Amino acid sequence: MKIILFDIDGTLVKAGGAGARALNFAVHAMTGHKNACDKVQLQGATDKANFENAYKAGGGRKPTKGELEELTQKYVDRLPLEVLASVKAKKYLKVKGVEKFLARLSGREGVMLGLGTGNLRDGAFIKLEPSGLLKHFAFGGYGCDSHHRSEVLQKAVQRAAKLAKASIRPGDVYVIGDTHRDVEAAKEAGYHSGVVLDGFGDPELVMRSNPELMAKDFSAIKPWLIWLGLEKDPRGVRRGTYICPDSPIEHAHYGRTGMDLRDIDLGIKKLREIKRKTAGK
Ligand SMILES: [Mg+2]
Repeated sequence: MKIILFDIDGTLVKAGGAGARALNFAVHAMTGHKNACDKVQLQGATDKANFENAYKAGGGRKPTKGELEELTQKYVDRLPLEVLASVKAKKYLKVKGVEKFLARLSGREGVMLGLGTGNLRDGAFIKLEPSGLLKHFAFGGYGCDSHHRSEVLQKAVQRAAKLAKASIRPGDVYVIGDTHRDVEAAKEAGYHSGVVLDGFGDPELVMRSNPELMAKDFSAIKPWLIWLGLEKDPRGVRRGTYICPDSPIEHAHYGRTGMDLRDIDLGIKKLREIKRKTAGK
């Protein structure tokens, strides 16, 4: 059984800032401070952590448990309106190719699709509602499960195991996100990690977090299917090498799918050319 967990913001949809606006509204209502979210890095963190940080940015101190509950309620109450505003302004977008990709995976034997998101459960459903993608997901791990993303993912896998009435090996779990935090959380839990670069992640941080697969979006499904082990890699699994551009060290690169080997070969030729030129040979 393969478990595929999807992050929401920047991976499935972009809600046009609806979450930040709803949180700003809630913090403003409670502390009188506007735009508290401007001071908080929301992407890739759990809602729980974001709510605390936004309240702190607005109120100047950590919220009490009661205040956090009130803030959460205000956020959830406001979110549908903000999502609708994004839809109306045509700022609510699905990540390219995601619909087809999910349709391709859905109902496939031996595959279960779930959510692995920092959003609260209610928030997740509200944000996904206009996309029509909710029908693909039978379970999930949410921001209300834990502050820590890796625990959110583990919770999703526990729920999948319960549904499937089977134990699930970490090596059969694939996490798809858009930030380095998704990758780090996946690695921490011992799961596979893939990233869409067209989301909200910082490309440099994503690169450094070293996911197994990076792709702009889901417009080309094949690399994703190969990574998931659902299709055969036409070139086979091989090991390639590349030369680090600004050092004399030749690094080993373990091409998991082998699909990037041609690029690596071309890269090596180019870099050797540049090195030869710089050395004046
Ligand atoms: Mg995200």
